[in-house]
Amino acid sequence: CGIVGYIGNQAAVPILMDGLRSLEYRGYDSAGVAVYDQAVEMIKVKGRLVNLEERLLATPIQGSVGIGHTRWATHGAPSDVNSHPHRDEETDIVLVHNGIIENYLSLKAELMEEGYVFASETDTEVAVHLIASYYRETKDLLDAVLLAIDRIQGSYAFGVFCKDEPDTIIAARKDSPLVVGLGTGENFIASDIPAILKHTRDVYFLEDGEVAVVRKNSVQLMDNLKKPIERPVFHVTWDI
Ligand code: GLU
Repeated sequence: CGIVGYIGNQAAVPILMDGLRSLEYRGYDSAGVAVYDQAVEMIKVKGRLVNLEERLLATPIQGSVGIGHTRWATHGAPSDVNSHPHRDEETDIVLVHNGIIENYLSLKAELMEEGYVFASETDTEVAVHLIASYYRETKDLLDAVLLAIDRIQGSYAFGVFCKDEPDTIIAARKDSPLVVGLGTGENFIASDIPAILKHTRDVYFLEDGEVAVVRKNSVQLMDNLKKPIERPVFHVTWDI
């Protein structure tokens, strides 16, 4: 399973696909990408990355911000709908997740009570609707993510963006790996360094409980109370 995210001036899809390919060693049963250019567009399919490539050739999607995912199913069988990204239709928030949300059943019941409709059988989908429910109150994606992760028990590496703030990817981590890659006029997130090594050797390793606000010209690390975290850039010296 793996996560990749890109924000910058280049076309995101080839970078995301390349990154996902380099994470194949982690194992997966399905894959998907979401990008933004005027609107959020998403393609996700069960099976190998070649299946996703074929779909992308048939129905190209474009954007210079995006997230990609390879899924190792834990909750919900491998299928197109259970693949990530997951999306909240109303707010057009999209999210990829590695890990397991332990309290997803109670969160799901609560969200269904509020009227949220679930498309998939995954634990992950609660995260995107939970963020959406807070986003409706706060109108701020970072605040919504912080409120949501406060409610989520389990393990996660998240990559999230939404149509109303397409200049930002929010990343969050607990018990599941996540790195932020630092470029020039572009930045990256990934579950592991090989996914971004073609583009940059400068990274931050996100630690448990930390959140990153990733824009094309800036990366801010913070804790769950928005306290800024200063960390030296780690320079990768090895090759794949
Ligand atoms: N638990 C999530 C799911 O089953 C994420 C799995 C993963 O880490 O790929 O969809």
